[in-house]
Amino acid sequence: MKKIQMVDLKGQYEQIKERVDSSVLDVINSSAFINGPEVHSFQKELETYLGVKHVIPCGNGTDALQIAMMGLGLKPGDEVITADFTFAATVEVIALLQLTPVLVDVEPDSFNIDPAAIRKAITPNTKAIVPVHLFGQSANMDEIMSIAKEHNLYVIEDNAQGIGGEYKFNNGSITKTGGIGHVASTSFFPSKNLGCYGDGGAIFTNDDDLAHTIRGIVNHGMYKRYHHDVVGVNSRLDSIQATILRAKLPNLDAYNIARNEAAEKYTKAFEGIDNIITPKISKPGDYKAHVFHQYTLRVLDTDRDALVKHLNANDIPCGVYYPIPLHSQKAYQDDRYNEADFPVTNQLVKEVISLPMHTELDDEQIGYITKTVIDFVKK
Ligand SMILES: *Cc1c(COP(=O)(O)O)cnc(C)c1O
Repeated sequence: MKKIQMVDLKGQYEQIKERVDSSVLDVINSSAFINGPEVHSFQKELETYLGVKHVIPCGNGTDALQIAMMGLGLKPGDEVITADFTFAATVEVIALLQLTPVLVDVEPDSFNIDPAAIRKAITPNTKAIVPVHLFGQSANMDEIMSIAKEHNLYVIEDNAQGIGGEYKFNNGSITKTGGIGHVASTSFFPSKNLGCYGDGGAIFTNDDDLAHTIRGIVNHGMYKRYHHDVVGVNSRLDSIQATILRAKLPNLDAYNIARNEAAEKYTKAFEGIDNIITPKISKPGDYKAHVFHQYTLRVLDTDRDALVKHLNANDIPCGVYYPIPLHSQKAYQDDRYNEADFPVTNQLVKEVISLPMHTELDDEQIGYITKTVIDFVKK
Protein backbone atom coordinates (compact mmCIF):
# COMPACT_ATOMS: atom_id res chain seq x y z
CA MET A 1 0.00 0.00 0.00
CA LYS A 2 1.18 3.52 -0.80
CA LYS A 3 2.06 5.56 2.30
CA ILE A 4 -1.04 7.49 3.38
CA GLN A 5 -0.79 11.27 3.36
CA MET A 6 -3.22 13.74 4.91
CA VAL A 7 -2.85 15.72 1.69
CA ASP A 8 -1.00 14.27 -1.31
CA LEU A 9 0.43 17.26 -3.13
CA LYS A 10 3.18 15.25 -4.77
CA GLY A 11 0.82 12.75 -6.35
CA GLN A 12 -1.32 15.55 -7.72
CA TYR A 13 1.74 17.37 -9.07
CA GLU A 14 2.82 14.25 -10.99
CA GLN A 15 -0.42 14.52 -13.01
CA ILE A 16 0.23 18.10 -14.14
CA LYS A 17 4.01 18.18 -13.97
CA GLU A 18 4.66 18.94 -17.63
CA ARG A 19 2.43 21.97 -17.79
CA VAL A 20 3.50 23.29 -14.38
CA ASP A 21 7.20 22.90 -15.06
CA SER A 22 7.12 24.58 -18.45
CA SER A 23 4.89 27.45 -17.35
CA VAL A 24 6.99 28.15 -14.25
CA LEU A 25 10.09 28.27 -16.47
CA ASP A 26 8.27 30.61 -18.86
CA VAL A 27 7.55 32.99 -15.98
CA ILE A 28 11.18 32.92 -14.88
CA ASN A 29 12.30 33.63 -18.44
CA SER A 30 9.82 36.48 -18.76
CA SER A 31 11.00 38.11 -15.48
CA ALA A 32 7.41 39.33 -14.98
CA PHE A 33 7.30 38.08 -11.41
CA ILE A 34 4.78 40.48 -9.93
CA ASN A 35 1.49 41.54 -11.52
CA GLY A 36 2.53 39.95 -14.79
CA PRO A 37 0.24 38.64 -17.52
CA GLU A 38 -0.14 35.27 -15.75
CA VAL A 39 -1.80 36.95 -12.76
CA HIS A 40 -4.17 38.82 -15.05
CA SER A 41 -5.05 35.68 -17.04
CA PHE A 42 -5.66 33.69 -13.87
CA GLN A 43 -7.89 36.45 -12.53
CA LYS A 44 -9.99 36.41 -15.72
CA GLU A 45 -10.20 32.61 -15.80
CA LEU A 46 -11.29 32.46 -12.17
CA GLU A 47 -13.93 35.15 -12.75
CA THR A 48 -15.34 33.03 -15.58
CA TYR A 49 -15.19 29.81 -13.58
CA LEU A 50 -16.89 31.31 -10.53
CA GLY A 51 -19.35 33.50 -12.41
CA VAL A 52 -18.34 36.58 -10.39
CA LYS A 53 -17.63 39.98 -11.89
CA HIS A 54 -14.41 40.68 -10.04
CA VAL A 55 -11.59 38.56 -8.69
CA ILE A 56 -8.80 40.50 -6.97
CA PRO A 57 -5.79 38.25 -6.31
CA CYS A 58 -3.79 38.89 -3.15
CA GLY A 59 -1.12 37.39 -0.92
CA ASN A 60 -3.09 34.84 1.11
CA GLY A 61 -6.53 34.02 2.46
CA THR A 62 -6.05 35.91 5.71
CA ASP A 63 -5.13 39.09 3.83
CA ALA A 64 -8.13 38.52 1.58
CA LEU A 65 -10.48 38.61 4.58
CA GLN A 66 -8.80 41.66 6.05
CA ILE A 67 -8.85 43.54 2.75
CA ALA A 68 -12.51 42.66 2.20
CA MET A 69 -13.33 44.20 5.58
CA MET A 70 -11.19 47.28 4.84
CA GLY A 71 -12.91 47.64 1.48
CA LEU A 72 -16.32 47.71 3.12
CA GLY A 73 -15.14 50.60 5.29
CA LEU A 74 -15.82 48.83 8.58
CA LYS A 75 -14.75 51.00 11.52
CA PRO A 76 -13.37 50.25 15.02
CA GLY A 77 -16.24 49.24 17.28
CA ASP A 78 -18.34 47.78 14.48
CA GLU A 79 -19.50 44.32 15.46
CA VAL A 80 -18.82 41.44 13.09
CA ILE A 81 -20.55 38.13 13.71
CA THR A 82 -18.74 34.92 12.83
CA ALA A 83 -18.58 31.26 13.79
CA ASP A 84 -16.99 30.03 17.02
CA PHE A 85 -15.95 26.85 15.23
CA THR A 86 -13.54 27.82 12.46
CA PHE A 87 -9.90 28.55 11.73
CA ALA A 88 -8.59 31.52 13.72
CA ALA A 89 -7.82 33.64 10.64
CA THR A 90 -11.46 34.67 10.45
CA VAL A 91 -11.62 36.20 13.90
CA GLU A 92 -8.00 37.36 13.83
CA VAL A 93 -8.49 39.95 11.10
CA ILE A 94 -11.67 41.25 12.74
CA ALA A 95 -9.70 41.89 15.93
CA LEU A 96 -6.70 43.25 14.05
CA LEU A 97 -8.83 45.94 12.43
CA GLN A 98 -10.17 46.80 15.90
CA LEU A 99 -13.61 45.68 14.91
CA THR A 100 -15.46 43.72 17.58
CA PRO A 101 -15.66 39.99 16.89
CA VAL A 102 -18.92 38.40 17.98
CA LEU A 103 -18.55 34.62 17.99
CA VAL A 104 -21.68 32.51 17.75
CA ASP A 105 -22.44 28.81 17.84
CA VAL A 106 -22.69 26.46 14.85
CA GLU A 107 -25.09 23.74 13.70
CA PRO A 108 -24.25 20.18 14.78
CA ASP A 109 -24.86 18.55 11.39
CA SER A 110 -23.27 21.03 8.96
CA PHE A 111 -20.65 22.46 11.39
CA ASN A 112 -21.61 25.86 9.92
CA ILE A 113 -22.71 29.07 11.60
CA ASP A 114 -26.20 28.78 13.07
CA PRO A 115 -28.59 31.42 11.65
CA ALA A 116 -30.64 31.39 14.86
CA ALA A 117 -27.51 32.25 16.84
CA ILE A 118 -26.74 35.07 14.40
CA ARG A 119 -30.18 36.55 14.99
CA LYS A 120 -29.67 36.44 18.75
CA ALA A 121 -26.32 38.22 18.50
CA ILE A 122 -27.45 41.22 16.45
CA THR A 123 -27.20 44.63 18.15
CA PRO A 124 -27.41 48.18 16.77
CA ASN A 125 -23.60 48.01 16.30
CA THR A 126 -23.64 44.90 14.12
CA LYS A 127 -22.28 45.68 10.67
CA ALA A 128 -21.37 42.37 9.06
CA ILE A 129 -21.69 38.60 9.13
CA VAL A 130 -18.82 36.31 8.11
CA PRO A 131 -20.11 32.83 7.28
CA VAL A 132 -17.33 30.28 6.73
CA HIS A 133 -18.18 27.46 4.30
CA LEU A 134 -16.53 25.05 6.66
CA PHE A 135 -14.92 21.85 5.41
CA GLY A 136 -16.26 22.58 1.92
CA GLN A 137 -20.01 22.88 2.45
CA SER A 138 -21.90 26.15 2.13
CA ALA A 139 -23.41 27.76 5.18
CA ASN A 140 -27.18 28.34 5.11
CA MET A 141 -27.07 31.30 2.73
CA ASP A 142 -30.87 31.58 2.34
CA GLU A 143 -31.15 32.46 6.01
CA ILE A 144 -27.94 34.46 6.24
CA MET A 145 -28.76 36.68 3.26
CA SER A 146 -32.26 37.29 4.54
CA ILE A 147 -31.00 38.23 8.04
CA ALA A 148 -28.48 40.56 6.40
CA LYS A 149 -31.15 42.21 4.30
CA GLU A 150 -33.47 42.63 7.26
CA HIS A 151 -30.76 44.30 9.38
CA ASN A 152 -28.82 46.02 6.61
CA LEU A 153 -25.60 44.04 7.20
CA TYR A 154 -22.74 43.09 4.93
CA VAL A 155 -22.07 39.43 4.25
CA ILE A 156 -18.41 38.43 3.79
CA GLU A 157 -18.08 34.79 2.75
CA ASP A 158 -14.93 33.08 3.96
CA ASN A 159 -14.64 30.63 1.08
CA ALA A 160 -11.13 29.39 1.86
CA GLN A 161 -12.42 25.82 2.24
CA GLY A 162 -15.28 25.92 -0.24
CA ILE A 163 -13.90 26.84 -3.66
CA GLY A 164 -15.74 25.14 -6.51
CA GLY A 165 -18.75 24.41 -4.35
CA GLU A 166 -22.28 25.58 -5.03
CA TYR A 167 -25.24 26.63 -2.95
CA LYS A 168 -28.79 25.85 -4.03
CA PHE A 169 -31.24 28.43 -2.76
CA ASN A 170 -34.74 27.48 -1.61
CA ASN A 171 -36.09 29.02 -4.84
CA GLY A 172 -34.00 26.56 -6.85
CA SER A 173 -31.37 28.97 -8.14
CA ILE A 174 -27.76 27.84 -7.83
CA THR A 175 -24.74 30.07 -7.15
CA LYS A 176 -21.11 29.15 -6.62
CA THR A 177 -19.96 29.87 -3.08
CA GLY A 178 -18.06 33.13 -2.93
CA GLY A 179 -20.50 34.81 -5.30
CA ILE A 180 -23.40 35.10 -2.87
CA GLY A 181 -22.48 37.73 -0.27
CA HIS A 182 -21.30 41.29 -0.84
CA VAL A 183 -17.71 40.11 -0.94
CA ALA A 184 -15.81 36.86 -0.39
CA SER A 185 -12.32 35.67 0.32
CA THR A 186 -10.45 32.53 -0.54
CA SER A 187 -7.04 30.99 0.06
CA PHE A 188 -4.72 29.17 -2.33
CA PHE A 189 -2.65 27.69 0.51
CA PRO A 190 -1.16 24.44 -0.89
CA SER A 191 -3.54 22.10 0.93
CA LYS A 192 -6.73 23.96 -0.05
CA ASN A 193 -8.92 22.50 -2.81
CA LEU A 194 -7.30 24.90 -5.30
CA GLY A 195 -3.82 25.31 -3.89
CA CYS A 196 -0.65 26.87 -5.27
CA TYR A 197 2.93 26.05 -4.30
CA GLY A 198 3.31 28.81 -1.73
CA ASP A 199 0.93 31.44 -0.41
CA GLY A 200 -1.90 32.99 -2.36
CA GLY A 201 -5.42 34.28 -1.97
CA ALA A 202 -8.18 36.27 -3.63
CA ILE A 203 -11.16 38.47 -2.98
CA PHE A 204 -14.36 38.14 -5.04
CA THR A 205 -17.18 40.61 -5.51
CA ASN A 206 -19.91 41.50 -7.97
CA ASP A 207 -19.84 45.15 -6.84
CA ASP A 208 -17.90 47.37 -9.28
CA ASP A 209 -17.24 50.18 -6.77
CA LEU A 210 -16.10 47.80 -4.06
CA ALA A 211 -13.81 46.03 -6.55
CA HIS A 212 -12.23 49.36 -7.46
CA THR A 213 -11.73 50.26 -3.79
CA ILE A 214 -10.15 46.86 -3.10
CA ARG A 215 -7.81 47.02 -6.11
CA GLY A 216 -6.34 50.15 -4.57
CA ILE A 217 -6.17 48.73 -1.04
CA VAL A 218 -4.12 45.69 -2.11
CA ASN A 219 -1.62 48.05 -3.73
CA HIS A 220 -0.74 50.52 -0.93
CA GLY A 221 -3.97 52.45 -1.31
CA MET A 222 -2.89 53.66 -4.77
CA TYR A 223 -5.42 54.39 -7.49
CA LYS A 224 -2.98 56.54 -9.44
CA ARG A 225 0.75 55.87 -9.31
CA TYR A 226 2.25 57.43 -6.16
CA HIS A 227 -1.07 58.92 -5.10
CA HIS A 228 -2.13 57.20 -1.87
CA ASP A 229 -5.80 57.95 -1.30
CA VAL A 230 -6.46 55.44 1.46
CA VAL A 231 -4.33 53.42 3.84
CA GLY A 232 -3.66 50.18 2.02
CA VAL A 233 -1.53 47.08 2.33
CA ASN A 234 0.92 45.23 0.15
CA SER A 235 -0.68 41.95 -0.74
CA ARG A 236 -0.22 40.29 -4.11
CA LEU A 237 -0.24 36.95 -5.82
CA ASP A 238 3.02 36.38 -7.63
CA SER A 239 3.22 35.22 -11.23
CA ILE A 240 4.74 31.83 -10.45
CA GLN A 241 1.83 31.01 -8.14
CA ALA A 242 -0.63 32.36 -10.71
CA THR A 243 0.73 30.15 -13.46
CA ILE A 244 0.51 27.08 -11.20
CA LEU A 245 -3.09 28.00 -10.36
CA ARG A 246 -3.83 28.37 -14.09
CA ALA A 247 -2.58 24.81 -14.59
CA LYS A 248 -4.81 23.53 -11.78
CA LEU A 249 -8.02 25.53 -12.29
CA PRO A 250 -9.22 23.45 -15.28
CA ASN A 251 -8.94 20.38 -13.00
CA LEU A 252 -10.73 21.86 -9.99
CA ASP A 253 -14.06 20.20 -10.75
CA ALA A 254 -12.33 16.86 -11.28
CA TYR A 255 -10.42 17.34 -8.02
CA ASN A 256 -13.66 18.03 -6.18
CA ILE A 257 -15.28 14.96 -7.77
CA ALA A 258 -12.33 12.82 -6.61
CA ARG A 259 -12.78 14.21 -3.09
CA ASN A 260 -16.50 13.41 -3.20
CA GLU A 261 -15.79 9.87 -4.37
CA ALA A 262 -13.38 9.31 -1.49
CA ALA A 263 -15.97 10.79 0.90
CA GLU A 264 -18.68 8.46 -0.42
CA LYS A 265 -16.44 5.45 0.14
CA TYR A 266 -15.64 6.54 3.68
CA THR A 267 -19.29 7.13 4.49
CA LYS A 268 -20.33 3.78 3.05
CA ALA A 269 -17.71 1.95 5.11
CA PHE A 270 -18.92 3.64 8.32
CA GLU A 271 -22.58 2.79 7.70
CA GLY A 272 -24.17 1.08 10.67
CA ILE A 273 -21.44 2.04 13.13
CA ASP A 274 -23.55 3.66 15.83
CA ASN A 275 -20.92 5.84 17.46
CA ILE A 276 -19.66 7.40 14.25
CA ILE A 277 -21.53 10.32 12.71
CA THR A 278 -20.46 10.82 9.10
CA PRO A 279 -20.64 14.26 7.45
CA LYS A 280 -24.10 15.31 6.46
CA ILE A 281 -24.36 16.45 2.85
CA SER A 282 -27.26 18.75 2.09
CA LYS A 283 -27.66 17.25 -1.39
CA PRO A 284 -26.21 13.72 -1.46
CA GLY A 285 -24.75 12.74 -4.81
CA ASP A 286 -24.25 16.32 -5.93
CA TYR A 287 -20.50 16.77 -6.01
CA LYS A 288 -20.74 20.53 -5.82
CA ALA A 289 -22.95 20.68 -2.73
CA HIS A 290 -19.92 19.68 -0.65
CA VAL A 291 -16.37 19.89 -1.95
CA PHE A 292 -14.86 18.05 1.04
CA HIS A 293 -11.95 20.24 1.94
CA GLN A 294 -12.05 18.00 5.01
CA TYR A 295 -13.85 14.72 5.67
CA THR A 296 -14.79 15.15 9.30
CA LEU A 297 -16.36 12.54 11.55
CA ARG A 298 -17.91 12.93 14.97
CA VAL A 299 -17.02 10.04 17.24
CA LEU A 300 -19.39 9.51 20.17
CA ASP A 301 -18.56 7.77 23.47
CA THR A 302 -14.98 7.44 22.29
CA ASP A 303 -11.74 8.96 23.51
CA ARG A 304 -11.11 11.02 20.39
CA ASP A 305 -7.54 11.89 21.32
CA ALA A 306 -6.76 8.22 21.89
CA LEU A 307 -8.20 7.49 18.44
CA VAL A 308 -5.85 10.09 16.95
CA LYS A 309 -2.90 8.35 18.64
CA HIS A 310 -4.12 4.95 17.48
CA LEU A 311 -4.39 6.12 13.85
CA ASN A 312 -0.98 7.78 13.96
CA ALA A 313 0.53 4.63 15.45
CA ASN A 314 -0.88 2.79 12.43
CA ASP A 315 0.67 5.27 9.97
CA ILE A 316 -2.59 7.06 9.32
CA PRO A 317 -2.31 10.83 9.54
CA CYS A 318 -5.43 12.67 10.71
CA GLY A 319 -6.37 16.09 11.98
CA VAL A 320 -8.50 17.68 14.65
CA TYR A 321 -10.12 20.73 13.13
CA TYR A 322 -10.64 22.41 15.54
CA PRO A 323 -9.69 21.33 19.07
CA ILE A 324 -10.49 24.59 20.92
CA PRO A 325 -13.48 26.89 20.42
CA LEU A 326 -12.38 30.37 19.37
CA HIS A 327 -14.24 31.93 22.30
CA SER A 328 -11.96 29.92 24.64
CA GLN A 329 -8.74 30.98 22.95
CA LYS A 330 -6.68 33.37 25.07
CA ALA A 331 -6.54 35.99 22.34
CA TYR A 332 -10.30 36.07 21.81
CA GLN A 333 -11.80 35.62 25.26
CA ASP A 334 -14.41 38.19 26.13
CA ASP A 335 -16.55 38.71 29.24
CA ARG A 336 -19.61 38.99 27.03
CA TYR A 337 -19.44 35.32 26.16
CA ASN A 338 -21.41 32.79 28.11
CA GLU A 339 -20.57 29.06 27.91
CA ALA A 340 -24.27 28.29 27.58
CA ASP A 341 -24.24 30.08 24.24
CA PHE A 342 -21.85 27.54 22.69
CA PRO A 343 -23.25 24.08 23.42
CA VAL A 344 -22.58 22.73 19.92
CA THR A 345 -19.03 24.03 19.47
CA ASN A 346 -18.11 22.92 22.99
CA GLN A 347 -19.27 19.41 22.08
CA LEU A 348 -17.78 19.28 18.57
CA VAL A 349 -14.26 20.16 19.71
CA LYS A 350 -14.27 16.91 21.72
CA GLU A 351 -15.73 14.71 18.98
CA VAL A 352 -14.38 15.77 15.60
CA ILE A 353 -11.65 14.02 13.68
CA SER A 354 -10.73 14.65 10.04
CA LEU A 355 -9.44 11.75 7.97
CA PRO A 356 -6.97 11.95 5.07
CA MET A 357 -8.67 13.75 2.17
CA HIS A 358 -7.13 14.52 -1.18
CA THR A 359 -7.43 13.68 -4.85
CA GLU A 360 -5.09 10.66 -4.85
CA LEU A 361 -6.65 8.35 -2.22
CA ASP A 362 -7.10 4.78 -3.46
CA ASP A 363 -9.49 2.03 -2.37
CA GLU A 364 -6.83 0.08 -0.53
CA GLN A 365 -5.93 3.10 1.57
CA ILE A 366 -9.56 3.96 2.29
CA GLY A 367 -10.24 0.36 3.27
CA TYR A 368 -7.29 0.34 5.65
CA ILE A 369 -8.20 3.71 7.19
CA THR A 370 -11.86 2.85 7.75
CA LYS A 371 -11.07 -0.59 9.18
CA THR A 372 -8.54 0.92 11.61
CA VAL A 373 -11.07 3.54 12.76
CA ILE A 374 -13.89 1.02 13.14
CA ASP A 375 -11.75 -1.49 15.06
CA PHE A 376 -11.00 1.24 17.59
CA VAL A 377 -14.42 2.81 18.07
CA LYS A 378 -16.66 -0.26 17.80
CA LYS A 379 -17.97 -1.37 21.17
C1 LIG B 1 -6.96 28.56 5.29
C2 LIG B 1 -8.02 29.43 5.82
C3 LIG B 1 -7.86 30.83 5.93
C4 LIG B 1 -6.55 31.53 5.72
O1 LIG B 1 -5.93 31.34 4.53
P1 LIG B 1 -4.33 31.59 4.42
O2 LIG B 1 -4.09 31.57 2.95
O3 LIG B 1 -3.67 30.48 5.14
O4 LIG B 1 -4.05 32.92 5.02
C5 LIG B 1 -8.94 31.58 6.35
N1 LIG B 1 -10.11 31.00 6.67
C6 LIG B 1 -10.29 29.67 6.62
C7 LIG B 1 -11.61 29.11 7.00
C8 LIG B 1 -9.26 28.84 6.21
O5 LIG B 1 -9.44 27.52 6.17
